[in-house]
Amino acid sequence: MVFKRLFKRGSEDLGGEEMNFKKERKELVQNLIRIGVLKSPEVIRAMMAVPRELFVPPSYKKLAYADTPLPTASGQTISAPHMVAWMCELLELKPGMKMLEIGAGSGYHAAVCAEIVAPTGSQVKGHVYAIERLWELVEFAKKNLERAGYADRVTVIHGDGTLGYPEAAPYDRILVTAAAPRVPPPLVEQLKVGGKIVIPIGEAYTAQELFVVEKISEHEVRRRPCGGCIFVPLIGRYGWRESSEPSI
Ligand code: SAH
Repeated sequence: MVFKRLFKRGSEDLGGEEMNFKKERKELVQNLIRIGVLKSPEVIRAMMAVPRELFVPPSYKKLAYADTPLPTASGQTISAPHMVAWMCELLELKPGMKMLEIGAGSGYHAAVCAEIVAPTGSQVKGHVYAIERLWELVEFAKKNLERAGYADRVTVIHGDGTLGYPEAAPYDRILVTAAAPRVPPPLVEQLKVGGKIVIPIGEAYTAQELFVVEKISEHEVRRRPCGGCIFVPLIGRYGWRESSEPSI
Protein backbone atom coordinates (compact mmCIF):
# COMPACT_ATOMS: atom_id res chain seq x y z
CA MET A 1 0.00 0.00 0.00
CA VAL A 2 1.23 3.46 -0.89
CA PHE A 3 0.19 4.85 2.55
CA LYS A 4 2.19 2.18 4.39
CA ARG A 5 5.28 3.06 2.39
CA LEU A 6 4.82 6.77 3.12
CA PHE A 7 4.59 6.16 6.87
CA LYS A 8 7.61 3.86 7.04
CA ARG A 9 10.25 6.24 5.67
CA GLY A 10 13.24 7.19 7.85
CA SER A 11 12.32 7.01 11.53
CA GLU A 12 15.47 5.19 12.65
CA ASP A 13 17.95 8.03 13.15
CA LEU A 14 15.76 10.48 15.04
CA GLY A 15 16.26 11.75 18.62
CA GLY A 16 13.62 11.22 21.36
CA GLU A 17 11.59 14.43 20.98
CA GLU A 18 11.72 14.25 17.19
CA MET A 19 10.64 10.59 17.32
CA ASN A 20 7.61 11.60 19.41
CA PHE A 21 6.66 14.35 16.96
CA LYS A 22 7.03 11.94 14.06
CA LYS A 23 4.72 9.47 15.83
CA GLU A 24 2.17 12.20 16.61
CA ARG A 25 2.35 13.43 13.02
CA LYS A 26 1.67 9.93 11.73
CA GLU A 27 -1.31 9.53 14.09
CA LEU A 28 -2.72 12.90 13.01
CA VAL A 29 -2.39 12.03 9.32
CA GLN A 30 -3.94 8.59 9.86
CA ASN A 31 -6.84 10.24 11.66
CA LEU A 32 -7.35 12.76 8.85
CA ILE A 33 -7.43 9.86 6.39
CA ARG A 34 -9.89 7.97 8.59
CA ILE A 35 -12.33 10.91 8.79
CA GLY A 36 -12.10 11.38 5.01
CA VAL A 37 -10.33 14.78 4.91
CA LEU A 38 -7.05 13.49 3.52
CA LYS A 39 -7.41 11.52 0.30
CA SER A 40 -4.69 12.01 -2.27
CA PRO A 41 -1.19 10.49 -1.94
CA GLU A 42 0.41 13.90 -2.74
CA VAL A 43 -1.26 15.70 0.18
CA ILE A 44 -0.77 12.76 2.55
CA ARG A 45 2.94 12.64 1.73
CA ALA A 46 3.29 16.42 2.22
CA MET A 47 1.50 16.39 5.59
CA MET A 48 3.80 13.54 6.67
CA ALA A 49 6.91 15.39 5.48
CA VAL A 50 6.46 18.87 7.01
CA PRO A 51 7.33 19.17 10.73
CA ARG A 52 4.51 21.38 12.14
CA GLU A 53 6.43 21.67 15.43
CA LEU A 54 8.89 24.00 13.67
CA PHE A 55 6.09 26.41 12.70
CA VAL A 56 4.26 26.91 16.02
CA PRO A 57 5.50 29.36 18.68
CA PRO A 58 7.84 27.51 21.13
CA SER A 59 5.32 27.67 24.00
CA TYR A 60 2.79 25.69 21.88
CA LYS A 61 5.23 23.06 20.62
CA LYS A 62 3.59 20.29 22.65
CA LEU A 63 0.29 21.00 20.85
CA ALA A 64 1.85 20.93 17.38
CA TYR A 65 -0.15 17.83 16.38
CA ALA A 66 -3.45 18.64 18.07
CA ASP A 67 -5.97 19.19 15.27
CA THR A 68 -6.66 22.77 16.28
CA PRO A 69 -5.65 26.30 15.23
CA LEU A 70 -2.88 27.83 17.38
CA PRO A 71 -1.96 31.48 18.02
CA THR A 72 0.93 33.04 16.08
CA ALA A 73 1.24 36.79 16.77
CA SER A 74 -0.92 39.94 16.77
CA GLY A 75 -4.12 37.91 17.26
CA GLN A 76 -3.49 35.78 14.15
CA THR A 77 -3.50 31.98 13.95
CA ILE A 78 -1.88 28.99 12.29
CA SER A 79 -4.78 27.01 10.75
CA ALA A 80 -5.79 23.60 12.12
CA PRO A 81 -4.18 20.66 10.28
CA HIS A 82 -7.55 19.40 8.95
CA MET A 83 -8.13 22.82 7.35
CA VAL A 84 -4.67 22.80 5.77
CA ALA A 85 -5.31 19.28 4.44
CA TRP A 86 -8.81 20.09 3.17
CA MET A 87 -7.66 23.26 1.34
CA CYS A 88 -4.73 21.41 -0.24
CA GLU A 89 -7.08 18.66 -1.44
CA LEU A 90 -9.42 21.28 -2.98
CA LEU A 91 -6.49 23.04 -4.68
CA GLU A 92 -5.51 19.83 -6.55
CA LEU A 93 -1.85 20.83 -6.54
CA LYS A 94 0.61 19.05 -8.82
CA PRO A 95 4.43 19.03 -8.94
CA GLY A 96 5.76 21.94 -11.00
CA MET A 97 2.91 24.35 -10.30
CA LYS A 98 3.45 28.00 -9.41
CA MET A 99 1.15 29.20 -6.67
CA LEU A 100 0.37 32.23 -4.55
CA GLU A 101 -0.71 32.13 -0.92
CA ILE A 102 -2.37 35.13 0.73
CA GLY A 103 -1.72 35.07 4.49
CA ALA A 104 1.65 33.37 5.09
CA GLY A 105 1.25 33.50 8.89
CA SER A 106 3.60 30.86 10.31
CA GLY A 107 4.62 29.57 6.85
CA TYR A 108 3.27 26.07 7.63
CA HIS A 109 0.59 25.92 4.95
CA ALA A 110 3.04 27.33 2.39
CA ALA A 111 5.53 24.57 3.32
CA VAL A 112 2.90 21.84 2.85
CA CYS A 113 2.04 23.30 -0.57
CA ALA A 114 5.75 23.57 -1.45
CA GLU A 115 6.23 19.90 -0.55
CA ILE A 116 3.66 19.08 -3.27
CA VAL A 117 4.66 21.53 -6.04
CA ALA A 118 8.42 21.10 -5.43
CA PRO A 119 8.86 17.82 -3.53
CA THR A 120 12.01 17.41 -1.42
CA GLY A 121 14.70 15.66 -3.45
CA SER A 122 12.84 15.99 -6.76
CA GLN A 123 14.08 17.73 -9.92
CA VAL A 124 10.62 19.23 -10.39
CA LYS A 125 10.69 22.78 -9.12
CA GLY A 126 7.35 24.50 -8.71
CA HIS A 127 7.26 27.52 -6.41
CA VAL A 128 5.13 29.12 -3.71
CA TYR A 129 4.90 32.92 -3.30
CA ALA A 130 3.38 33.73 0.10
CA ILE A 131 2.23 37.25 1.03
CA GLU A 132 1.77 38.45 4.60
CA ARG A 133 0.63 41.92 5.73
CA LEU A 134 2.21 41.88 9.21
CA TRP A 135 5.99 42.35 9.39
CA GLU A 136 6.28 40.32 12.56
CA LEU A 137 4.75 37.33 10.78
CA VAL A 138 6.84 37.84 7.62
CA GLU A 139 9.93 37.39 9.82
CA PHE A 140 8.36 34.46 11.70
CA ALA A 141 7.40 32.63 8.46
CA LYS A 142 10.82 33.22 6.90
CA LYS A 143 12.64 31.87 9.95
CA ASN A 144 10.39 28.79 10.20
CA LEU A 145 10.66 27.99 6.49
CA GLU A 146 14.44 28.33 6.65
CA ARG A 147 14.72 25.95 9.64
CA ALA A 148 12.40 23.40 8.02
CA GLY A 149 14.30 23.51 4.70
CA TYR A 150 11.72 25.24 2.47
CA ALA A 151 13.30 28.67 1.98
CA ASP A 152 14.38 27.77 -1.57
CA ARG A 153 10.81 26.83 -2.57
CA VAL A 154 8.78 29.50 -0.77
CA THR A 155 9.27 33.26 -1.24
CA VAL A 156 7.69 35.29 1.58
CA ILE A 157 6.63 38.81 0.61
CA HIS A 158 5.42 41.66 2.81
CA GLY A 159 2.33 43.36 1.42
CA ASP A 160 -1.42 43.49 0.88
CA GLY A 161 -2.26 40.14 -0.68
CA THR A 162 -5.68 41.33 -1.89
CA LEU A 163 -3.68 43.02 -4.67
CA GLY A 164 -2.02 39.69 -5.53
CA TYR A 165 1.63 39.66 -6.55
CA PRO A 166 1.77 40.69 -10.24
CA GLU A 167 5.58 40.32 -10.34
CA ALA A 168 5.32 36.51 -10.54
CA ALA A 169 1.85 36.14 -12.18
CA PRO A 170 0.14 34.24 -13.74
CA TYR A 171 -0.43 31.48 -11.16
CA ASP A 172 -1.73 27.93 -11.50
CA ARG A 173 -3.31 28.11 -8.06
CA ILE A 174 -4.10 30.79 -5.45
CA LEU A 175 -4.77 29.98 -1.79
CA VAL A 176 -6.33 32.57 0.51
CA THR A 177 -6.04 31.74 4.22
CA ALA A 178 -8.02 34.68 5.64
CA ALA A 179 -11.74 35.37 5.17
CA ALA A 180 -12.70 37.83 2.43
CA PRO A 181 -15.95 39.73 1.83
CA ARG A 182 -15.65 38.72 -1.88
CA VAL A 183 -13.08 37.35 -4.31
CA PRO A 184 -10.48 40.13 -4.82
CA PRO A 185 -10.52 40.94 -8.58
CA PRO A 186 -6.68 41.14 -8.87
CA LEU A 187 -6.49 37.47 -7.85
CA VAL A 188 -8.76 36.42 -10.73
CA GLU A 189 -6.70 38.58 -13.12
CA GLN A 190 -3.46 36.94 -11.95
CA LEU A 191 -4.82 33.38 -12.28
CA LYS A 192 -4.19 31.28 -15.41
CA VAL A 193 -7.22 30.11 -17.40
CA GLY A 194 -7.96 26.64 -15.99
CA GLY A 195 -6.50 27.73 -12.64
CA LYS A 196 -8.20 27.60 -9.23
CA ILE A 197 -8.53 29.82 -6.17
CA VAL A 198 -9.46 28.35 -2.78
CA ILE A 199 -10.85 31.11 -0.57
CA PRO A 200 -13.04 31.53 2.54
CA ILE A 201 -15.79 34.10 1.91
CA GLY A 202 -18.22 35.58 4.42
CA GLU A 203 -18.44 37.75 7.52
CA ALA A 204 -15.26 38.78 9.33
CA TYR A 205 -15.38 36.15 12.11
CA THR A 206 -18.56 34.09 11.50
CA ALA A 207 -20.74 32.57 8.75
CA GLN A 208 -17.94 31.88 6.30
CA GLU A 209 -17.90 29.34 3.50
CA LEU A 210 -14.95 27.86 1.68
CA PHE A 211 -15.17 28.33 -2.10
CA VAL A 212 -13.30 26.90 -5.06
CA VAL A 213 -13.24 29.52 -7.80
CA GLU A 214 -12.28 28.17 -11.21
CA LYS A 215 -11.24 30.47 -14.08
CA ILE A 216 -12.90 28.78 -17.04
CA SER A 217 -12.07 31.49 -19.63
CA GLU A 218 -10.42 34.94 -19.69
CA HIS A 219 -13.75 36.51 -18.64
CA GLU A 220 -15.58 33.78 -16.77
CA VAL A 221 -15.26 32.11 -13.36
CA ARG A 222 -17.26 29.32 -11.75
CA ARG A 223 -17.71 29.36 -7.95
CA ARG A 224 -18.38 26.18 -5.97
CA PRO A 225 -19.27 26.33 -2.24
CA CYS A 226 -17.58 23.53 -0.31
CA GLY A 227 -18.58 23.94 3.34
CA GLY A 228 -18.39 26.14 6.43
CA CYS A 229 -15.19 27.42 8.01
CA ILE A 230 -13.80 30.11 10.34
CA PHE A 231 -10.79 32.28 9.48
CA VAL A 232 -9.36 35.57 10.69
CA PRO A 233 -10.34 38.47 8.39
CA LEU A 234 -8.49 39.32 5.18
CA ILE A 235 -7.56 42.97 5.71
CA GLY A 236 -6.66 45.11 2.71
CA ARG A 237 -7.75 47.05 -0.36
CA TYR A 238 -10.16 44.30 -1.58
CA GLY A 239 -10.74 42.76 1.85
CA TRP A 240 -11.95 44.21 5.15
CA ARG A 241 -10.89 47.40 6.89
CA GLU A 242 -9.37 46.92 10.36
CA SER A 243 -12.88 47.74 11.69
CA SER A 244 -14.36 44.72 9.81
CA GLU A 245 -16.15 46.90 7.25
CA PRO A 246 -15.53 45.94 3.60
CA SER A 247 -12.82 48.25 2.23
CA ILE A 248 -14.76 48.98 -0.98
N1 SAH B 1 -1.53 30.23 6.35
C1 SAH B 1 -1.11 30.56 7.70
C2 SAH B 1 -2.28 30.94 8.58
C3 SAH B 1 -2.92 32.17 8.13
S1 SAH B 1 -3.82 33.11 9.31
C4 SAH B 1 -0.32 29.46 8.34
O1 SAH B 1 -0.14 28.38 7.75
O2 SAH B 1 0.17 29.68 9.46
C5 SAH B 1 -4.19 34.46 8.21
C6 SAH B 1 -3.05 35.36 7.92
O3 SAH B 1 -3.45 36.27 6.91
C7 SAH B 1 -2.60 36.21 9.10
O4 SAH B 1 -1.24 36.00 9.34
C8 SAH B 1 -2.88 37.65 8.65
O5 SAH B 1 -1.95 38.59 9.13
C9 SAH B 1 -2.80 37.51 7.14
N2 SAH B 1 -3.50 38.52 6.34
C10 SAH B 1 -4.70 39.11 6.55
N3 SAH B 1 -4.98 39.98 5.56
C11 SAH B 1 -3.94 39.91 4.67
C12 SAH B 1 -3.64 40.55 3.43
N4 SAH B 1 -4.46 41.45 2.85
N5 SAH B 1 -2.48 40.24 2.80
C13 SAH B 1 -1.62 39.35 3.35
N6 SAH B 1 -1.84 38.72 4.52
C14 SAH B 1 -2.99 38.98 5.17
